[in-house]
Amino acid sequence: MSIAVALDGPAGAGKSSIAKRAAKELDFIYVDTGALYRTIGLAATRNNIEPVESPEVEALLENITVDLTFNENGEQVVLLNGEDVSGLIRTPQASMTASKISAIPIVRAYLLDLQRNMAKSHNVIMDGRDIGTVVLPDAKVKIFLTASPEARAERRYKELIEKGMDVNYKDILEDVIQRDYNDTHRETAPLKPAEGCIMVDTTELDFLQSVEKIISVIKENI
Ligand code: C5P
Repeated sequence: MSIAVALDGPAGAGKSSIAKRAAKELDFIYVDTGALYRTIGLAATRNNIEPVESPEVEALLENITVDLTFNENGEQVVLLNGEDVSGLIRTPQASMTASKISAIPIVRAYLLDLQRNMAKSHNVIMDGRDIGTVVLPDAKVKIFLTASPEARAERRYKELIEKGMDVNYKDILEDVIQRDYNDTHRETAPLKPAEGCIMVDTTELDFLQSVEKIISVIKENI
């Protein structure tokens, strides 16, 4: 039977880069579920549909396909109606739309089977907000990864600047705080530590220390 590691936590805690590296070392597949919500957000934006509960969002879900595949380097590729949108979903605007659209119950329900099926067929580290609480409540290891809002905003700021984007720290910090609020206050699958999860705070850890910590937590618990 395959092994599942649920990795939840707020935006910018470093989940994706840490989990990607840990998955590589452990020979697991890394699944970034945020990309799925971002993709539905992109589909809504392209169709001029507001990211709020509405018949339009319901109709949108009936008319799109969202798939996950992996490229030759083992990196996740997300497809919207067959088109690779992995790069297009990485803008601050896509982050905010994803945060809003992910509060809609039918959007969450729509993505549930896709996420569960990934864990049936592979050993996975699955990164999200509700993996340990809703998607994979029976995951072998559940980790809640966090860091202070300032540390998270600073990391995201550096990441976006390195990509050549024109952003400022204050806006990013406000974004982080707003997304935390959205994620923890929504009615469906709010962000919260799963029962029995292991808390890991990376505020004082650098990238490699965080990776080592996650790997040792996983090894100790599988
Ligand atoms: O992880 P990432 O920042 O890419 O996620 C984008 C948005 O998607 C988050 O702000 C969150 O609101 C939402 N999300 C979610 N459940 C997940 C993964 C992401 O609600 N499992």
